[in-house]
Amino acid sequence: MNEIAKAGTFPSESQRFIQLIFVDINGVPKGMEIPASRYEEAITEGITFDGSSIPGFQGIEDSDLVFKADPETYAEVPWEGIARVYGYIYKDGKPYHADPRGVLREALKRLKEEGFKAYIGPEPEFYLFKKNGSWELHIPDSGGYFDLVTLDKARALRREIALYMPSFGLTPEVLHHEVGKAQHEIDFRFDEALKTADNIVSFKYIVKSIAEMRGLYATFMPKPLYGMPGNGMHLHISLWRDGENAFIGEDGLSETALHVLGGILKHAKALAAITNPTVNSYKRLVPGYEAPVYISWGYRNRSALIRVPAFWGNGARIEYRCPDPSANIYFAFAAILTAGLDGIKHKTEPSAYVEENVYEMSDAKRSNLGIETLPESLGEALEELKKDRIVREALGDAYKNFIRYKEREWEDYISYLEARELSLETKKVTEWELERYFYI
Ligand code: GLN
Ligand code: MG
Ligand code: MG
Ligand code: MG
Repeated sequence: MNEIAKAGTFPSESQRFIQLIFVDINGVPKGMEIPASRYEEAITEGITFDGSSIPGFQGIEDSDLVFKADPETYAEVPWEGIARVYGYIYKDGKPYHADPRGVLREALKRLKEEGFKAYIGPEPEFYLFKKNGSWELHIPDSGGYFDLVTLDKARALRREIALYMPSFGLTPEVLHHEVGKAQHEIDFRFDEALKTADNIVSFKYIVKSIAEMRGLYATFMPKPLYGMPGNGMHLHISLWRDGENAFIGEDGLSETALHVLGGILKHAKALAAITNPTVNSYKRLVPGYEAPVYISWGYRNRSALIRVPAFWGNGARIEYRCPDPSANIYFAFAAILTAGLDGIKHKTEPSAYVEENVYEMSDAKRSNLGIETLPESLGEALEELKKDRIVREALGDAYKNFIRYKEREWEDYISYLEARELSLETKKVTEWELERYFYI
């Protein structure tokens, strides 16, 4: 139970603190607190900090970074009695290359140069567990998809989360029990890409905080339990030009939308390294749990990597079903939108249109239809990323920090398996993953 949270009162300005928040290479929020009296300074000059121990940032020899608050993101955290703000990181007066929020800002600028603005709506999934200090996870409810009342013990908690969301600028749209026991989903209103990325960071923070206050643990790790559904985070994406949805065609999707689809499918393997960047992500991408495995697209098809929901007006969009909530969301949006833009530039026709269930096809049939497979491990995804210049460049110079960090992560995992004589192919969830990703 969170003692500070219980106190719950909101102090006067002079006693108030403000959290300055950025995310590390993993997308995990980090930050420091300042008295509210320094807020102006945080916006104008910025606050200096030592970045040497932030995962994926710099080495000790050269670590002075400056955080500048972005006042548009200011929000009060009701249960903590503080405010919090996101911002950008600078080094020697210039944007710091490994700042994920800065990477997305650059990617969105490139999109804007081509006349586009991106809107994204997410469907984050998570589990709520009871836990006894160890990794023995207890499942506090036995509900399944769309169950209500008796089987859904966490319903009040889910509503409480949704009630706090507007304080952070999020508009909840749908709350429901997911397929897995103790698995939930809360969808919130789509917004411009940077705002949605910030919203996802806020959302995870709200869910984890409220769960903690109620004696539960929320986890967004992609596959907390072997044999149970994973946590995905489907993304609904549309590009707009001159205030109009550029995905609206005469009769269905526009050419632009099809090219974006084509670009994402073409780069799907490398994108996985960024949208599914943990060892655990690849334990989710297996048949049998509504998670994508094959690179295809379709209209109603929920076995496809990209689904086109049947909305043809302003709601025209594509649903990318691969991403999971362990992604650094700023990197993920930068990479996906860059791949889409590449599709527009090269007029890439989307391959592998299928309305049948791709899991049930024979390998031969899939190969005849040109349906390829997503990477099966983080190691494989990183190899794909190294080969894909477009996706690499989407991260700018942060790519170097990312690949270095992730290759080390993959090597650590291999050493763990080898020490225990476990197979590299195992899809079982290891304690190494729970230690590393449970709180991500
Ligand atoms: N949990 C599934 C996944 O891993 C998605 C289930 C659904 O929302 N239809 O992506
Ligand atoms: Mg959903
Ligand atoms: Mg869902
Ligand atoms: Mg969905």
